[in-house]
Parts: sequence; C-alpha cells; structure tokens
Amino acid sequence: MSRSVPPRGVRGDRSPREQGGSGGNRPPETTLRTAKLVKVYRADGVTVEAIRGVDIELAAGEFVAIMGPSGSGKSTLLHVLGGLEPATSGEIWLRGERVDRLSTAGWALLRRQHIGFVFQFFNLLSNMTVADNVELPALLAGATPRQARRRREELLAELGIAGKAGAAPARLSGGEQQRVALARALANEPSLLLADEPTGNLDPHTAEEVHELFLKLNRELGITMVIATHNEHLTRSVGRALRLEEGKLRDEPKPPAPAPG
Ligand code: ADP
Repeated sequence: MSRSVPPRGVRGDRSPREQGGSGGNRPPETTLRTAKLVKVYRADGVTVEAIRGVDIELAAGEFVAIMGPSGSGKSTLLHVLGGLEPATSGEIWLRGERVDRLSTAGWALLRRQHIGFVFQFFNLLSNMTVADNVELPALLAGATPRQARRRREELLAELGIAGKAGAAPARLSGGEQQRVALARALANEPSLLLADEPTGNLDPHTAEEVHELFLKLNRELGITMVIATHNEHLTRSVGRALRLEEGKLRDEPKPPAPAPG
C-alpha cells in the first residue's frame, strides 16, 4: 500500500470516500474493526491476559475515548491496534484490509501511511527542531519537501505554535511539546490517530486546552481518533466513550452534562 501526501490544506479536502461517505446510500466507511482481539504477555513464567477479546468498530471520523483504571489494558490495546505490539490472536482490519498478520516491516509501512501516534511523554526527537520533528513523517510518507513544509506550517499555525518552528523540543513547555507531537502525528494525514494518555503528563488547565485541540482537529480533519484518557470532561464531549476493564471493552454511559452556571 503506498500513498503520497497530496498538498491539501490543514482543514482537508478529503474525497467523499476518505470522509466516510462512500457515495450513494452506502454506509460510512469503517476505519478500524477488530474481532476477538487478544493480547497475552508471557514473561518469566508469568502470563498476563492484557486484552481479552475486544470487538470494536470505528467509523471514519469517529472520536472515541477509552477509559479505564491503570493496568486495565489501555496502552496495550492502542499498541496492538497500531502494530507496536503483535496481537496474540484475533483480527484487526484497517480501512477494509486485514492487517493483524502483517510483518514488522509491513506494520511500519502501514503506520507511516495511515496511523499517527501521540504518547504521554511526547517522544519528540530532541536533536531535531520542532519543524523537522513535524516534517519527518510527511517526508517518510512520500511528501515532497515543499508539501511537508507547507503541511508543517499549517499544522503548527492551527495548533498555535507557529513561532516555535525553529526551537528545540526541550525548550518548550509540556503543553507545547504535546502540540508538536500532535502536529507530528497528523503530518502524514493518517486515517487513524491513536493517543495514549496524551494529557496525563500535563497540568489540568493545559490538559483541557490540548483535549480541545484534539476535538477541534477531529472535527476539521475528519480523522478517526482513539484516545486513552482519565479525563471525564473529554468523555462528555466525544462521540463515544468505552471502558476497558480487565482487558474487556464495554460502552461507558455518558456522564451527565454539568449544570449551567
Ligand atoms: P493501562 O495502559 O490501562 O495502564 P497496560 O496496557 O499498560 O494498562 O497493562 C495491562 C496489563 O498488561 C497490566 O497487567 C500490565 O502489567 C501488563 N503488561 C503491560 N505491558 C507488559 C509487558 N510488556 N510485559 C508483561 N506484562 C505487561
């Protein structure tokens, strides 16, 4: 599967197929689907069933929050969905293609083209500028340097950090670093963004701002997003909240909206 990044605006001018409307009366495209997904860790004679039969289906453009206590399997699920860890059994389908049996190299290529990751601790490349951190994934996905630069400029502007392009990541605040990480994850125009506690390392005010940016970019770009989070406020504003408990996923009833005033 190969795809170069077309030079389109940050607000996106995705084709109807990419937006999920596949034309006619067909239902919206499914970005991600799993069936009976299982992940078992075995180390030093200890077996941990981290994911125990997860069935999930995400329509194109959906924003899903995954809640759950520490150790419930949130990171494992995101890592397996993005191919950072192999599934033990079960199926993963991305944009209609079965991907759980891909090789490590196959997953790397798939991520380059279609999947963005945001981690709790930002994971920016410290010896590169902000601009280079954001342009690299687009270049790896096949964009020309001009396209990658334009995309980076648009994303940094959209995220309110255009002035930081030349800075080293270590010079930025946590909130700014996570904005850079979000820009980087979106640089290759992925179909799927996976974010693992992206605000877990931020103060509450900054966490709120960063959550708002995820929501805004989901609306504007139509990218399917899955976010592992503890943030109750976010679960009010997202399309769907799921709860992971002991490796099993269930719908989380939406908390009531706060009383006005
Ligand atoms: P969460 O992200 O919800 O805190 P995790 O996915 O990190 O949960 O962990 C789920 C379970 O899997 C925990 O019991 C954890 O100890 C275990 N686990 C996670 N990663 C590994 C690993 N690499 N090796 C063995 N066990 C692991």
